[in-house]
Amino acid sequence: MRVTGPPSPAQIQVAAERIATFLKPKNALVMTGAGVSVDSGIQAYRGSDGRYANPNFKPIFYQELMDSGPKGHAFRQRYWAGGYLGWRHVFRSDPNPTHFALAALQHLDVAPRLITQNVDGLHQRASPFSKQETDSRTLELHGTLNTVRCLRGHKMPREEFQDVLSKLNPAWKAYSDELDRTGQKPRTNPDGDVDLGGVRFADFVVPECAECAAEGHPGSILKLEVIFFGESIPNEVKERSFRMVDESDRLLLVGTTLATFSAFRLVKYALEQNKPVVLLNLGPARTDSIPQVEKIELPSREVLLEACRLLAGSRASEDQTLSRLLTSGVVKPPEMED
Ligand SMILES: [Zn+2]
Repeated sequence: MRVTGPPSPAQIQVAAERIATFLKPKNALVMTGAGVSVDSGIQAYRGSDGRYANPNFKPIFYQELMDSGPKGHAFRQRYWAGGYLGWRHVFRSDPNPTHFALAALQHLDVAPRLITQNVDGLHQRASPFSKQETDSRTLELHGTLNTVRCLRGHKMPREEFQDVLSKLNPAWKAYSDELDRTGQKPRTNPDGDVDLGGVRFADFVVPECAECAAEGHPGSILKLEVIFFGESIPNEVKERSFRMVDESDRLLLVGTTLATFSAFRLVKYALEQNKPVVLLNLGPARTDSIPQVEKIELPSREVLLEACRLLAGSRASEDQTLSRLLTSGVVKPPEMED
């Protein structure tokens, strides 16, 4: 099914009925990508092959980030300074109706498991379950922006790390506050650098892991718990992703082009087991040449919400949790880059 221009209510209805029919036998695995977070105002932070890139869409290479020499130090100053300013934006994003519709599919027990390629943590924030249960149902295939991790495995919430950076870099804190006050964004130069009136990358203080230092291992580099270019997905994550396909009877793909190999191979793995696959996404996808993947090219928000209502029947208004999930979420498309 392919649509140009705004979809008609009839097209949404037909697609929602198809999704509801697909999910009704239960035990579906949902896999999501960047498309589901666009309504939350989050730009695609990823490069063309999907690995983590900076907000200027330049890929960040794991080797550069982890280089222990002076070049690596300069790279990390630039990286964390940019991240320091950019974090406020991700941190202030909220789940949108697509996140809540997928949470409703979990609540309805038709699609209990979810794999996401996103690193923004918004699926978890839309979940009606306890943190423990949410974690057991959700796999972040490419890690998360919400945790900072050192080489030796110490972890710190990103929010806490932001406060550490603020204390170490008062001039940057003042600059960040000024951007907040004026509603301005850092300007981007043609070479992709950020124009930072007054503050300099070379002055940015990047801390090492304090716990490692206390244990007699100074110089332990901290990084976000996301997968960068040149970094492989941890084995336990990879194995769990395959296991989630094994445990499921069908696969629903939402808001993803399957550009990353780690996601694409899961689709191939499901097809090898003759499990039906439906893709709900606008625009071309890596699976377009695979006839077994049924594609619905419509906006996910309207289609999923209507599919939930069809599956829920009278529960949509009687079940308080469900009724809340089906009416929650912000819609705030990303601002255009200058
Ligand atoms: Zn450490």
